[in-house]
Amino acid sequence: MIVANTEAELRFALAQHKVGTIGFVPTMGALHEGHLSLIEIAKQNSDFVVVSIFVNPLQFSQGEDFEKYPRVLDADLELLLREKVDLVFAPTVETIYPAGQVITEHSGELGEKFEGAIRPGHFDGMLTVVRRLFELVEPNIAVFGQKDAQQVALIKQMLLNTEFAKPIRLLVGPTIREDSGLALSSRNRYLSKDEIEAATSISAALFAADGSSSRDTALNSAKDKLDLEARLEYLELVDEHFQPVTDDFQGEALMIIACRIGQTRLIDNHRVRIERKA
Ligand code: AMP
Repeated sequence: MIVANTEAELRFALAQHKVGTIGFVPTMGALHEGHLSLIEIAKQNSDFVVVSIFVNPLQFSQGEDFEKYPRVLDADLELLLREKVDLVFAPTVETIYPAGQVITEHSGELGEKFEGAIRPGHFDGMLTVVRRLFELVEPNIAVFGQKDAQQVALIKQMLLNTEFAKPIRLLVGPTIREDSGLALSSRNRYLSKDEIEAATSISAALFAADGSSSRDTALNSAKDKLDLEARLEYLELVDEHFQPVTDDFQGEALMIIACRIGQTRLIDNHRVRIERKA
């Protein structure tokens, strides 16, 4: 496994690999089984797998957890070696933003809703780094997690509207969960034992909504399941454009949720069926 820290090292390593397809998995490190499942998808769909580890300051707002975000590079590298990843790109902030930390991508209307409304600028920062990483790595395939559903929708939007050196195929991996249903997240490390119990009620809320007879019933069933310690930021049933579905909606929609538990902010989503019983 090659570890590249600078642009020159990355370019040199990529130049050694002239044939076959490149699969790319961007991460912020503190890797867990969710990340590893995306690497598995990349392996199955490409010949050379690149994983980046970069905590992107541009996607954190003032007062968020940029400083304390878990950075455990040695443990991450050990996991990636075991996974037989071909190349790890672990750059510094200066390598990614040689001309200073400037936003170059704008997420538009889709980036202002839900996560974007609560974390202003987050998606512009996320798209800016993803574009830069795509330009550096030039992957054929990029793999992202459904766990961050709005992020996936925005990357799809960017890929439709931007020309990259090569066309990039986006693959989306399902959310990996604990047996309890709790979605794996690097931020779960912040949770105390009691908080983990409250965090587990987030997925329980999403699962409880499945099969409801209407949008309102679904939202109420979900709210009823939430632990009192979970402070709800948003809970909504949306279509693929992140437009809330109407009261009379029938069919499948995405239930999205964000909660604060203690100091920790967690998000999750799940596809639910809304069907009026005869
Ligand atoms: P992060 O390191 O949090 O930026 O996440 C890197 C990638 O892993 C993103 O595409 C996430 O959507 C994905 N991811 C995070 N948590 C999970 C999970 N529990 N299951 C599958 N993918 C995940």
